[in-house]
Amino acid sequence: MKTAIPLWEVPAVPVAGSEARFPVRRIYCVGRNYAEHAREMGADPTREPPFFFMKPAEAIVTSGRMAYPPMTADLQHEVELVVALGRGGRDISAAGALECVFGYAVGLDMTRRDVQAELKAKGRSWEMGKAFDASAPISAVVPATRIGHPDRGAIGLKVNSQSRQHGDLADMIWPVADIIANLSAYVTLLPGDLVFTGTPAGVGRVERGDRLEGEIEGVGVLSVAIA
Ligand code: MN
Repeated sequence: MKTAIPLWEVPAVPVAGSEARFPVRRIYCVGRNYAEHAREMGADPTREPPFFFMKPAEAIVTSGRMAYPPMTADLQHEVELVVALGRGGRDISAAGALECVFGYAVGLDMTRRDVQAELKAKGRSWEMGKAFDASAPISAVVPATRIGHPDRGAIGLKVNSQSRQHGDLADMIWPVADIIANLSAYVTLLPGDLVFTGTPAGVGRVERGDRLEGEIEGVGVLSVAIA
């Protein structure tokens, strides 16, 4: 293809135990998928259908360093299990959903909480609170052929070695298969899509110089320094 401007590199995530990388097409995120986190955000944690927002593929960070973003004084961490889709489809059944999963990673849904709160209050869309540059640090993707499909196990985040967030994958209001089924009713999912599956309680502010370490039992560790 002859392109009118120079073609950019496709954003891609390392794959554990492989030279190959996982190319990222789109990033979907689930809001409020752990009851305790819904409560800490002042929301009712009843089992309403999951809701979704997006980040650009270019928002991934695989270098272990993210710059503190502009236009916020309240950058917050949300550690999340990330699903990497190797196959897509629409109207995928929950029973068949896990067959679409290539693998899993540890991700951070970094959030300008002050911006998000203002947008929420005005009934506006969340993008500038959620979908900014470097807002999606992510670990290597671990293939499901190696670890299976984790549906329980500790998920946590430390800031400067102090525990901030902790929960268990078993506490997800909507498990991975249901998320994929629900999302695929709205959009045709495609290989390369990532889905951030929501965060447990304990979200909080980070500052320049902080070191974040997210860990999900059976999946891996993600270390990120805020520059
Ligand atoms: Mn989140």
